[in-house]
Amino acid sequence: MVDLHSQYEHIKQDIDAAIREVIESTAFVKGPKVTEFQQQLEQYTGAKHVIPVGNGTDALQIALMALGLQKGDEVITPTFTFIATAEVVALLGLTPVVVDVDWETMNLDIESVRRAITPRTKAIVPVHLFGQCANMEALMALAKEHHLFVVEDACQAIGAKYTFANGETKQAGTMGDIGCTSFFPSKNLGCYGDGGAIFTDNDDLADRMRAIANHGMVVRYHHDMIGVNSRLDSLQAAILNAKLPHLDEYIKARQQAADFYDKAFAHCDVLLVPGHQKCSTHVYHQYTLRVIGTDRDTLRENLAERGIPAMIYYPVPLHQQKAYRDPRYKDGDFPVAERLAACVLSLPMHTELDEEQLNYITSNVLELCKK
Ligand SMILES: *Cc1c(COP(=O)(O)O)cnc(C)c1O
Repeated sequence: MVDLHSQYEHIKQDIDAAIREVIESTAFVKGPKVTEFQQQLEQYTGAKHVIPVGNGTDALQIALMALGLQKGDEVITPTFTFIATAEVVALLGLTPVVVDVDWETMNLDIESVRRAITPRTKAIVPVHLFGQCANMEALMALAKEHHLFVVEDACQAIGAKYTFANGETKQAGTMGDIGCTSFFPSKNLGCYGDGGAIFTDNDDLADRMRAIANHGMVVRYHHDMIGVNSRLDSLQAAILNAKLPHLDEYIKARQQAADFYDKAFAHCDVLLVPGHQKCSTHVYHQYTLRVIGTDRDTLRENLAERGIPAMIYYPVPLHQQKAYRDPRYKDGDFPVAERLAACVLSLPMHTELDEEQLNYITSNVLELCKK
């Protein structure tokens, strides 16, 4: 699915030197590499504040902790996503309210969000799933109308760009009040362990989140709020410093692979290629097909036999997960998400796919779909 080793081989010298430098300096925590990365990423994303943290899940949790929400306050999130999005809502004693998604973009459906808003709703967490932004124009307008916070889960979409009707272009994670991303190794900007970051333009929220990520501490050993311990370590920051200058070429490589897949599958009536969100670029964290005319699981098994990995992101929507079962929801309530869970199939997607591999993958997929 991913080829992190070949990617490393291309930048080995820079990475090895960066790692060695951190070890020699012994500034393992909160070292200058972390500040350097924070500044580099502020420059890249255009966010006023970047707050490096331990991972993407922590980023989401810290973001929600900073909003001053009360137990039972409702947070709207799509039911078709990775579990972390709702997990942090539940952990904080807030109430996750799930909504359905759009069949084409697989991102949250604005009308479903509108219907889910109640007097207890305080925030919306859109997920820029698989690497393209949700419909942020409509979502931000809706949030403004109802005075709701927007916390973007941009863990899969770093570098994706969204253009608003007024012509302004912003990056994933920098449109809402707060944005969150992850540097998990397989993410588009991956480190060699765990890492994450929070983006905001709001000075007060930035101060609060910096403090929360550091045990709620503003002045040393004085704790103004309950916090957590969540840090990006210097080794990971050094690796990310070496990789960030390559992010745009990595995105391009993913887009070229996606383009190849799109063209190959354009006339296959058994498969639907990913639909595009108007106004957003797609950075293809995943290339996710919808298998509509043949059995998805059989196709996946047959591909595996030919040495082609394919993954199901995600097989069970939130409202059908055992831990998140809620009497308010029953099977069938979110028909698009349920249908997607039953038919999505993600193909290998990374920066090192060459034409030979792409040909092998697409010709086998097409052959198996004909049977
Ligand atoms: C990866 C991911 C996360 C969590 O990031 P971690 O760094 O693994 O904690 C959250 N949300 C989405 C949509 C993700 O893809």
